[in-house]
Amino acid sequence: MASLSTAKRLVVKIGSSLLVEDGRLRAQWLTTLAQDVAQIASRGTQVILVSSGSIALGRGTLDLAGTELPLEQSQAAAAVGQIRLARAYEEALAPHNLVTAQVLLTLEDSADRRRYLNARATLETLLTLGTVPIVNENDTVATDEIRFGDNDRLAAQIAVTVGADQLILLSDVDGFYSGNPRTDTDARRYGIIDRITPEIEAMAGDAGSGLSRGGMKTKLMAAKTATAGGCAMAITEGSRDHPLRALDDGAHATWFRAETDPQAARKRWIAAMKPRGEITVYPGAARALAQGKSLLPAG
Ligand code: GLU
Repeated sequence: MASLSTAKRLVVKIGSSLLVEDGRLRAQWLTTLAQDVAQIASRGTQVILVSSGSIALGRGTLDLAGTELPLEQSQAAAAVGQIRLARAYEEALAPHNLVTAQVLLTLEDSADRRRYLNARATLETLLTLGTVPIVNENDTVATDEIRFGDNDRLAAQIAVTVGADQLILLSDVDGFYSGNPRTDTDARRYGIIDRITPEIEAMAGDAGSGLSRGGMKTKLMAAKTATAGGCAMAITEGSRDHPLRALDDGAHATWFRAETDPQAARKRWIAAMKPRGEITVYPGAARALAQGKSLLPAG
């Protein structure tokens, strides 16, 4: 199966809970992640980090307690936290002679074709220049209707946008399970998932039915986006030191195999979008569409 050592272009998603604990940065852990990134980059692999943590860090700095913050407060927290987050990455990667770049995106940036192409060109240039882009959602301006909402989805979108061959989700669970490992003793972890079938989708459960289950649904959506775009994806537990080295050394993970016949770039762009309406097609048209024909009269 895919191994990090063969990646040409790698996207790594880092969840808030790995980076921030009790409102404070897990600086020591970040140091070990930076060492892993430096090691991978020294092999010639281009790396993009999609990092959460701005809201969690900002809350800590502003002392904003409570389980759920009102939107304006979490946006303010993101503004305070993002600058700290970017600085933390810069400080962790600079000793390895790696230059960091901050890229903040909203869903609108990818829904508008011109802005999408522009973002893609910028990321491409940043990679060519040898930098490590640190990507997050632009939480300060993204309101609910225009949010990616979770960085699993954003990371998959970025991976497909830049044509990455591997996407790693560093998470609080060590893979994809057939049931909820916290409540179901029979639940087993998959090593490799070749295809995301309806059965697999049913195993992810519904969002909101417990922490990691809700998380699994978004991770599976991310896997669908990534694999359809020709990018393999792994879910692994990331809170240990040197999480990427650990994955390379055989730590528990679930890999989703990339589709060998990836969609054309324009179709990938459309597939990654949030639907805004519904369209009904007749069975004959559906068959034609499945063969790659168009919905226009000519197709
Ligand atoms: N963009 C949010 C942040 O940086 C996190 C989104 C997520 O955790 O998926 O705090």
